[in-house]
Amino acid sequence: MQTKIQTLPSKKNIALVAHDGKKAALKAWCLTHKNVLQTHHLFATGTTGHVIEKATGLSVEKLLSGPMGGDQQIGAKIAEHQIHMLVFFWDPLASQPHDPDVKALLRLAAVWNIPVACNEVTADLLIASPSISDEITRDLPDYQGYLATRLD
Ligand code: PGA
Repeated sequence: MQTKIQTLPSKKNIALVAHDGKKAALKAWCLTHKNVLQTHHLFATGTTGHVIEKATGLSVEKLLSGPMGGDQQIGAKIAEHQIHMLVFFWDPLASQPHDPDVKALLRLAAVWNIPVACNEVTADLLIASPSISDEITRDLPDYQGYLATRLD
């Protein structure tokens, strides 16, 4: 499929997700980076969002809990271009009942070419990037263009 260029806004919609074994790590990361995070719009799966709000006072738009469909809600928002960055501390040392949803979420983040951090070091690098609060461009699949070729 051909791609096209789209601009991500300077104020980004950032999704935050952490498995139970990683919630303490994401909470600590949010506390460390609260000053930057509060300049963006935050989304999270249900339990993660409650934990972050309580610990940091940041305002978080909370979706369903991950195993109850929250990962899929975030994936849908990525596909609809409503989420511009994902910080997903998934736990590599624990099996998850919703493993297919986890895989689907990471796949959609790759399809739609958004910045993704799956551990603290990568999240530190992303949030410290001079571009975090700039408009940035991304290539993304040109589905409308693809459709036009199929309907000829
Ligand atoms: P939770 O979901 O924030 O509701 O715990 C996270 C997940 O397991 O995907």
